[in-house]
Amino acid sequence: MQQKTPITVAYGDGIGPEIMQATLQILEAAGAQIAPEVIEIGEKIYLAGNTAGIAPTAWASLRRTKVFLKAPITTPSGSGYKSLNVTVRKTLGLYANVRPCAAYHPFVPTLHPKMDVVIVRENEEDLYAGIEHRQTDEVFQCLKLITRPGCEKIVRYAFDYAVQHGRSKVTCMTKDNIMKMTDGLFHKVFDEISAQYPNIKADHMIIDIGAARLASRPEAFDVIVTPNLYGDIISDIAAELTGSVGLGGSANIGEHVAMFEAIHGSAPDIAGQGIANPSGLLLGAVMMLVHIGQHAVAQRVHNAWLATIEAGVLTSDLAAAGQAVGTQAFAQAVIARLGQSPTKLLAVQYTASAQQTTQTPKPLYTPRPPAQKALVGVDVFVHTHGESAEYLAGRLQTLAGQPRDTGLKLQMITNRGVKVWPGGFPETFCTDHWRCRFMSQTPGPSGPGQPPQASHSGIIGLLENLHDDGVDFIKIENLCTFDGEPGFALGQGQ
Ligand code: NAD
Repeated sequence: MQQKTPITVAYGDGIGPEIMQATLQILEAAGAQIAPEVIEIGEKIYLAGNTAGIAPTAWASLRRTKVFLKAPITTPSGSGYKSLNVTVRKTLGLYANVRPCAAYHPFVPTLHPKMDVVIVRENEEDLYAGIEHRQTDEVFQCLKLITRPGCEKIVRYAFDYAVQHGRSKVTCMTKDNIMKMTDGLFHKVFDEISAQYPNIKADHMIIDIGAARLASRPEAFDVIVTPNLYGDIISDIAAELTGSVGLGGSANIGEHVAMFEAIHGSAPDIAGQGIANPSGLLLGAVMMLVHIGQHAVAQRVHNAWLATIEAGVLTSDLAAAGQAVGTQAFAQAVIARLGQSPTKLLAVQYTASAQQTTQTPKPLYTPRPPAQKALVGVDVFVHTHGESAEYLAGRLQTLAGQPRDTGLKLQMITNRGVKVWPGGFPETFCTDHWRCRFMSQTPGPSGPGQPPQASHSGIIGLLENLHDDGVDFIKIENLCTFDGEPGFALGQGQ
């Protein structure tokens, strides 16, 4: 007899316990060889005072089993709590979030009977780094971090997924017309890696029109790869287009650990009523079975589920009024069909090669030699209220040179990214948060004609000048070139 694979299981919050119970019943009836280790995470742990929502013993289980089947978790609102979902994904390095969204026409009502999209969402970076600060009375900031290794990992994963699943096209969605450096990097890496997969079509769309097209013509898409926030949003759109957000399962894949879940949340509005659709979590569990090499059981469960849908057994999110079954009745209907295949919907077939789809591609990314980095200036962010841009500029121009000589000169001031000095417009609305760009006046090390080089001591001298004069600086960003390319964006209107 096959040895049971230990998996970590969390019943979660809201509808979590109901849909997890239904899912595990189906897995057991299908003969899944799994040994669940149950951990407690989420609301109870948060409310017991652990702001991360997860205890050390739960981490130990996850690191031991390396496979996590997780029901949705409620993140209490309020700034004192971090999202446990994001914490788990990032702490365990689960960089790829794979969300297949297919129509089950005509058994599940949808406007898009032919849609069959897989969204590969970057899972660790972007605005979800969760690095947020209040900087002034008026301005709050969230840092968007995009890294080359992160882009390479997710884009390669998307192309490998396409190859291994017989898919023909990967579409990248970014907003690189606006965020030229961060989203621009994602797009650039996409172009580099797509060139290595000549048999897979590759295209890029700006996320706004991409999301609109996904909503109106989802059948035109195959695999979509996109940064974290856009992926979060468009995968809910795609799941909802198939009929209900309750249908979507997802895999969160890392180098060491993988987590499987539904794409939806804990649905507190219907919790405890026994009416939630367990399909999203069940389809997540099917992906888990493939991941741990139990292909035959995965196939048995998935086909029984398709046969159940085909038989018109639907939960209230999908059924016509008065025709819905509850969570438990739905689970029993799937169990009763184990061994059956759908007759109209396409039956699934999982083979050992499909397992590779959830395994990490090698190499994950190609380390590069460090670039030649040169410090050329500094952006100093200043909190000041009631001063005009002209007045502030006059003050800072003086402070750039005295009392300490800094080698820096004020080049521009922006407010919320818009240039307001020199030559600002009176119509531009200004807050109390000013980005003041100082560039070096000192010739580069190889003499005149070389790009000017700033120094850390010059920047420290500048900050001391500002401090002595009572300027409230909030933070600085060093301005560098990398192999001669500027590593900073221009101001809007510069
Ligand atoms: P939600 O996905 O929980 O619910 C949105 C809507 O979809 C609700 O009307 C709900 O009743 C319905 N719905 C969701 N799942 C369903 C199912 N299986 N069957 C039938 N109907 C279903 O989103 P929300 O209300 O914005 O979030 C609720 C909580 O879930 C929040 O605390 C949020 O932080 C959390 N959340 C957790 C996860 C996760 O654990 N991965 C993901 C998203 C949201």
